[in-house]
Amino acid sequence: MNRIHKTISLFIALMTCFLLPAQKTDLVQYVNTLQGTNSRFELTRGNTYPTTALPFAMHTWTPQTGVNGDGWKYQYEKDSIRGFQQAHQCSSWTNDYMVFSLMPVTGTLALDQYRRAAKFSHANETGKPNYYKVLLDNGITTEISPVERGAHIRFSFPKGKASFVVLDGYTGMSGVEIIPKENKIVGYVSNGRFSHKNFKSHFVIEFDQPIRRYGIWENHNNENRTNETAGEGKGVGAWVEFDPGVKVQVKTASSYISAEQAAFNLKNELGQFKTVEQTKHAAWKIWNDHLHRIFVEGDNEDDKATFYSCFFRASLFSRKFYEMDQNGNPYYYSPYDGKIHEGYMFTDTGFWDTFRAQFPLNALLHPTMHGRYVAALLDAYEQCGWLPSWSFPGEGGSMIGNHAISLLADAWAKGIHTFDPEKALQAYFHEATNKGPWGPSNGRHGWKEYFTLGYVPYPEYGEATAKTLEYAYDDFCGYNLARMTGSSFYEEIFSRQMYNYRNVFDKQVGFMRGRDKNGKWTPNFDPFEWGGPYTEGNAWHYLWSVFHDIEGLIHLLGSEEQFVKKLDSVFSVPNRVNVGTYGYKIHEMTEMQMAEMGQYAHGNQPIQHMIYLYNYAGAPWKAQQKLREVMHKLYNATENGYPGDEDQGQTSSWYVLSAMGFYSVCPGTDQYVLGSPLFEKTTITMEDGKQFVIEAKGNNAQNVYIQSAELNGKIHTKNYIRYEDIAKGGTLTMKMDDQPNKKRGIRPEDRPYSVSFNR
Ligand code: CA
Repeated sequence: MNRIHKTISLFIALMTCFLLPAQKTDLVQYVNTLQGTNSRFELTRGNTYPTTALPFAMHTWTPQTGVNGDGWKYQYEKDSIRGFQQAHQCSSWTNDYMVFSLMPVTGTLALDQYRRAAKFSHANETGKPNYYKVLLDNGITTEISPVERGAHIRFSFPKGKASFVVLDGYTGMSGVEIIPKENKIVGYVSNGRFSHKNFKSHFVIEFDQPIRRYGIWENHNNENRTNETAGEGKGVGAWVEFDPGVKVQVKTASSYISAEQAAFNLKNELGQFKTVEQTKHAAWKIWNDHLHRIFVEGDNEDDKATFYSCFFRASLFSRKFYEMDQNGNPYYYSPYDGKIHEGYMFTDTGFWDTFRAQFPLNALLHPTMHGRYVAALLDAYEQCGWLPSWSFPGEGGSMIGNHAISLLADAWAKGIHTFDPEKALQAYFHEATNKGPWGPSNGRHGWKEYFTLGYVPYPEYGEATAKTLEYAYDDFCGYNLARMTGSSFYEEIFSRQMYNYRNVFDKQVGFMRGRDKNGKWTPNFDPFEWGGPYTEGNAWHYLWSVFHDIEGLIHLLGSEEQFVKKLDSVFSVPNRVNVGTYGYKIHEMTEMQMAEMGQYAHGNQPIQHMIYLYNYAGAPWKAQQKLREVMHKLYNATENGYPGDEDQGQTSSWYVLSAMGFYSVCPGTDQYVLGSPLFEKTTITMEDGKQFVIEAKGNNAQNVYIQSAELNGKIHTKNYIRYEDIAKGGTLTMKMDDQPNKKRGIRPEDRPYSVSFNR
């Protein structure tokens, strides 16, 4: 921008201020819900879908390009839409549950998902959190605005042509009843994995136009029964016809509890809205207030679009799984025991991904919700005998580790004391000394050997070295929760186990390595080899999974110099891939190679904290430079916006925290490790209204290095800030420059937490 333009913009900005004194900046406009949707099995740019929903809402809505049951429900490269779905899916790899779809059809009635599909182009599509709109090539416009447990939809049909809406019952059992006199369809769907046998989603669909004709159909055989009003079976759906060329508004809401509750949800959440515009505006206000919790200032509009698109994604999981009764009290259908309980429940997250940044971000911004969340973990434990690890919505047990304890310890360290810590430690101890019935992260694979040998042996157990590392971190969390709450029994037990990471470090090769039950290292070591003793990664990625004791890791590597050299090597070694036990190139390998940052694989979780580790070894400026490079190079607000799977808000939360200038390297402690803030000014507004301001003077794309920092006016030499520093409000001021200050943040007392150093 030249000077004249700047002056004009300033003038307009000032005029706007005077004319509209109470108006808040529209931050929703920055969000692109299509970010990361250009994904497929072989290559992921996010594996997201254009989620239309309120923050952490129970049900979301999305257009559907894939066939029923396909985890890739919306792919940017596809050119036709076959439905608009109620959706919940965490990840393409897990598929969805409790889905049904509505599809407008014009001209001739077409029921099945292939014949009713209609072409569209992205030029005619808008994807905002509060409003999705698409004009299909056949002339029908669909608009969707969300509430927490439903949506307000409008189908506008081309003039003079027959106008139908088709309800698809999806892949499992369903039941529908059309009530023509009331212009209404009610029913249920029951589909999805990892859910209790009696799990159903009851729905209500109300039209504001008269139904003229109708019928029941079955999607597995395309049988149509015109004039019938009810049916039940696999994939049973309905169709309704309206006056030609109608504009029909549809209100829909669902409940996991009962049909009556679904009707109440509709009345409670949509009752006050007459038009889609009203629902859209209410949803806009909720999102705009939400996004204003982090207000960023600077003149790079692209960065703002990336930031708010990521912040939107970071605010979808975990999902509220509870509903409000007529007196305004929360209650829920539990996916863990299939019964109705009072209180709060949340689901749809995988802790292997989200303990790292997504929950630490929630703990900061939404302590009330987070307090309910961690308390609900113990309710889940009571209901099914195990802590959740991957819930979508019930126990999935996918991936590795027992990271529920990370959330519990992290909440406690941050003053969120909504649960009984003794009960949490009991539940965790049970988790750590048993194997559950579901996947590897349900209880502990190899727990006996882990306790007796001090590591999980390989090849006796798959992904054994990764398991040892993550168990040791989890045990640290158990130790720290016990220490904070004076539980000496558990403190003693877990304090012995939390150093087990040392037992899988091989000094000869300088990496974490597989080791058999007799203590022999796995032969033919190749640090570029994926799988085997590691999870979705290789030795370059897993060396750093000692979140709680980086000081101890530095010691293992010989010296600070050696440690920094090793961190540097991650970026300087070739981006070579040995597919190892996977036997073929999984998408994470391709994504690492495409990033062209050596072995730095930001598209997957194990290494996402690694850059911050320079702060522990007297070289914080190296973290500052690399973090800015990653934010700039690997993220944007487009359909190609992520360097790999987004994963339930985790990869977005990495960006949100990093752009603010800090990151949660070791959840379970109260520290956030400093990086390099992306914006000139960031204001975080806490739940109680207090504000924490991060000012980065002279910040721009070149001035990425922190010269000096002051916290509330006092010189701040430390490479971290505490939760309380942020939560109580204040100002962190940094001076930025294009040359590093190699004297700042290098003293031992400036380093972030390590258990063997700070204990
Ligand atoms: Ca991942």
